[in-house]
Amino acid sequence: MYEVNYHRAGSLEEALKLLKDADDGKLISGGQTLIPAMKTRLAAPSDLVDLRHIAELRGISVSGRTVTIGAGTTHAEVASNADIEKICPALCHLANLIGDPHVRHMGTIGGSLANNDPAADYPAAMLAMSATILTNAREIVAEDFFTGLFETALEEDEIITAVRFDAPAKAGYAKFPNPASRYAMTGVFVVQDGGAVRAAVTGAGDDGVFRSAEVEEALAKDFSPAALDGINVPADALMTDIHASAAYRAGLIVAMAKRAVVMANG
Ligand SMILES: Cc1cc2nc3c(=O)[nH]c(=O)nc-3n(C[C@H](O)[C@H](O)[C@H](O)COP(=O)(O)OP(=O)(O)OC[C@H]3O[C@@H](n4cnc5c(N)ncnc54)[C@H](O)[C@@H]3O)c2cc1C
Repeated sequence: MYEVNYHRAGSLEEALKLLKDADDGKLISGGQTLIPAMKTRLAAPSDLVDLRHIAELRGISVSGRTVTIGAGTTHAEVASNADIEKICPALCHLANLIGDPHVRHMGTIGGSLANNDPAADYPAAMLAMSATILTNAREIVAEDFFTGLFETALEEDEIITAVRFDAPAKAGYAKFPNPASRYAMTGVFVVQDGGAVRAAVTGAGDDGVFRSAEVEEALAKDFSPAALDGINVPADALMTDIHASAAYRAGLIVAMAKRAVVMANG
């Protein structure tokens, strides 16, 4: 590590000012991505503005089927929230699959969404549930928020304050984890609500999280695992890396979508 100025912000307003005043400031929430990046010098901010102690960024509220999760809420808090469990257990399940206990107790939903790692779990849920990302300045729908690998629609000095979504009638999530990191080698979040079906895939796309038209089309006709038998998910826009080929990931999308549907159907 190298020298860095640390600031503990007490309010959103203070965090915005600290960020604006810094030479090359960076927000830090759980530090689960940023600290490793700093250790390897992939990131070298002059100042860290810590959001962890800002009360207004933390907490979960559920009103009817509308869920609002503060950006500073940890994965463990989402995983164990009884109100979310009642109406959207798939999200608790997803949060519980992230990393290990340390990562789940430190990492936050806001940090995960801002980072938009192509193998992160939350982006799939947010895209499938058509969530809205709230910032200090505006509201951004998930379709417009995730713009590419580690890229989002956030402006330089913009802070995510919360995410909001309406819990769908049915939702399920399944991932094939990388055995070392637990990040998704492929993960699929499926939703059925009224007549609409949405299926978002993480860990597999060359350009980050995306919706699978093939999976959605098949499940719109019949929301059952059998409907996915023999469907062809093209591998051309999928990722090949040391862990798996694009063709293997195409197969994983179908396999994970089937498991997610089983969960969604209870
Ligand atoms: C060993 C290990 C295993 C992991 N496994 C998984 C996994 O299986 N699935 C998964 O999804 N993730 C996984 N993660 C990542 C983890 O979920 C992190 O919590 C997440 O990527 C970042 O959240 P954070 O709160 O730690 O953010 P930080 O590291 O503090 O910040 C990450 C980035 O987001 C920015 N940021 C933070 N908060 C905000 C905000 N409110 N508004 C705007 N920008 C903000 C920061 O400036 C930084 O650029 C893993 C991490 C580790 C170390």
